[in-house]
Amino acid sequence: MNLILLGPPGAGKGTQAKRLEDRHGLKQISTGDMLRAEVRSGSEVGLQAKAIMERGELVPDAIIIAMLAGRVAQPDVAQGFILDGFPRTVPQAEALDLMLKEKAMPLHHVIELQVDDVALVDRISGRFTCAKCGEGYHDQFKPLAKHGTCDVCGSGEFTRRADDKAELVAARLEAYHRQTAPLLPYYAAQGVLRVVDGMAEMNEVARQIEAILGDKG
Ligand code: ADP
Ligand code: ADP
Ligand code: ZN
Repeated sequence: MNLILLGPPGAGKGTQAKRLEDRHGLKQISTGDMLRAEVRSGSEVGLQAKAIMERGELVPDAIIIAMLAGRVAQPDVAQGFILDGFPRTVPQAEALDLMLKEKAMPLHHVIELQVDDVALVDRISGRFTCAKCGEGYHDQFKPLAKHGTCDVCGSGEFTRRADDKAELVAARLEAYHRQTAPLLPYYAAQGVLRVVDGMAEMNEVARQIEAILGDKG
């Protein structure tokens, strides 16, 4: 099964993608994670993307589409994938349609996580991640069970994203509403768009997504 999780920054795409990976054996493809890895490695793409990401703007389509094409060609995604953070513009969606068509890979569902802008500020500013295993947390909504220690791997080292600052959230939301929201009518017209209440708590969001996946109609 091939899915897209669509929604503004902080909507819960990564959180739900991880659960779908575990439950359905699908591969999460996060263009944000891929870009952060490029920045860390100091590659050409990383150098180009870093300043753009630090302004909360979108990286140019040509760079993202090339990166994504390389990833989708790898054998581990043949069993099914969850796109998290891609596509973010209409040209990216059109490029994806072409790529999937060439590979005869269907797109089963595009799941929109609907969350109010006000809630996104809290979600983004409280987000942190285990530096060792990558488990995602939130100061308020998903705190560590034991202070200072990752629930999953026991590590005591955590990271916060450079762009997860309250000052940058407005720019990132603006980019979403202006450049990414047009994908909603784009996928609605293809008949693949499904909407989930992203304001609900994480387990309820996961339940709503499962209901969509189980619904063969
Ligand atoms: P979030 O999880 O908050 O939605 P991401 O981790 O997906 O954020 O993306 C972080 C940043 O990486 C974005 O603000 C943007 O600069 C860049 N980026 C990620 N995916 C894309 C994409 N598909 N197109 C353009 N830029 C992207
Ligand atoms: P995205 O990948 O869409 O940017 P994340 O999955 O990283 O979003 O979620 C952003 C933050 O909000 C994380 O700290 C996560 O733990 C938290 N979060 C995710 N889903 C929910 C939810 N349904 N209710 C409250 N907090 C959530
Ligand atoms: Zn951990």
